[in-house]
Amino acid sequence: MEVKLMRNILGANDEIAAQNRKIFAERGVIVMNLMGSPGSGKTTLLEKTLANLADKIKIAVIEGDLFTAKDAERIERAGVEVIQINTAGGCHLDAPMIQKACASLNLAEINFLIVENVGNLVCPAEFDIGENFKSVVLSITEGDDKPLKYPLIFKESEAALLNKIDLLPFTNFDLQSAREDLTTLHPTIKIFETSCTTGAGLDDWCAWLLGKVAR
Ligand code: MG
Ligand code: ZN
Repeated sequence: MEVKLMRNILGANDEIAAQNRKIFAERGVIVMNLMGSPGSGKTTLLEKTLANLADKIKIAVIEGDLFTAKDAERIERAGVEVIQINTAGGCHLDAPMIQKACASLNLAEINFLIVENVGNLVCPAEFDIGENFKSVVLSITEGDDKPLKYPLIFKESEAALLNKIDLLPFTNFDLQSAREDLTTLHPTIKIFETSCTTGAGLDDWCAWLLGKVAR
């Protein structure tokens, strides 16, 4: 009776997510679900992150994209194993997709799996894929109103990257108000101000990730 009730509450996705999480733990893999709008700079950030961390830990990447393998090709050029998931129009990754993709990865050989989710501020935050933690990339050009307009993704994420910070002088983005909104939504959220053009904030971000994986 109790089991049946639990099943109904959890739903199919969360059951598979729990299976994924168990396998990741058994293989000693830490998993980050990286989310953000299209064009927020997730893939470029990933390229910089891989360049920084690749000689310190063994990383693999799962790339979620609607139709193309453009991002996966970029990640492959960074010399990291990458699995492409095309959702054929689906606007988020779910736990069964991750389970399937992981079948072609040798999880025992990696420490850190980064999943770049489909570019979207809404439903990627609603689907547990079995990750250890989520991070969200918000670029300065998207506007400082986004945390309050899309609260769930910022509540769910352990880290928020205010990306393309080099563009701040050319926008009306209010950095202090964005920081305040983020902290109001999620008091313990870790905020990074990053730029893949100038390199600002990337060392701090990579050191934080390294701490998550080493733990
Ligand atoms: Mg991308
Ligand atoms: Zn969706």
